[in-house]
Amino acid sequence: MAFKKGIYLTIDDSPSDDFAEKVRFLHRKQIPAVFFCRGDLIKNHLTDLSEAVEYGYCIGNHAYDHQRFSLLPLTSCIEQIKKTDDLIGEIYRNCGISVYHKLFRFPYGDKGDFKFGFDLSPFSNAFIKGQAGPGKKLCQIFQLLSKAGFEHYLSGKNRHGMIRKEQIQTCLRDLGYVRPEVYGITYSFYQQMNVGYDWNWTFDVREWRYNNDWNRHNFLRYVCDRIDADDPVTDFGCISEPHGLNYLFSNDLVLLHDHTSTSWLFYRIIEYMEQKGITFLDPLTGLKKDNLA
Ligand SMILES: [Zn+2]
Repeated sequence: MAFKKGIYLTIDDSPSDDFAEKVRFLHRKQIPAVFFCRGDLIKNHLTDLSEAVEYGYCIGNHAYDHQRFSLLPLTSCIEQIKKTDDLIGEIYRNCGISVYHKLFRFPYGDKGDFKFGFDLSPFSNAFIKGQAGPGKKLCQIFQLLSKAGFEHYLSGKNRHGMIRKEQIQTCLRDLGYVRPEVYGITYSFYQQMNVGYDWNWTFDVREWRYNNDWNRHNFLRYVCDRIDADDPVTDFGCISEPHGLNYLFSNDLVLLHDHTSTSWLFYRIIEYMEQKGITFLDPLTGLKKDNLA
């Protein structure tokens, strides 16, 4: 029996100059999505953002100017969150909405814990065992450093990272951020990361890798092949878990980006997913009214 793939669409780095067009494109197709917005881009697109809210799209918080939280002092991390939270609140207020779902996504998935958003840090088990695919080289270097007496330094960094992470999570909790309950995502790695007050993803389309060196047709093929892959290479998904989107029997939390350089791809990818019979699920259905901030 064929598995019918369902995905929750999330779009990062909004709002670009093509944001309004993307919102209308999705609205026409009745495709639900969350747009994670950068605070510094919000002021240029207030009207477009209000339109998105009126269509029922969720405006999520993607911090202020897209920095790696592990490279910022804790106070700056908190400021990144709060400043953007205020700006988003204003958009909703302008639409006459005082109560709305608050969702947060870290730029680069970096929770500010010195792990830089993936499990390749010198402090993780995967790293220590040398299993973290693309980080293998880095891992060997850190193992050498450890042998050279850096262990104490690394474990201190790890502890400090954990404390920072907790403090950032507390800030998100206090501001009313929630993690949607989504259904049918059965990956074991999702169970592990499905904690906290921010929201991650399980499949990165990686359309952001496009640059003008690529032939457009070939690049579209590359992205579609990843969606279809049944024997994908590593470095897929959120924590280097290999999988092709359309292959495994789990729903997915899909990450696309609102970059003007890849707008042409954005539309093609959505259409390709539609052709493949993928169902677009509403990321907010699992959020009940009493979860509202
Ligand atoms: Zn981003």
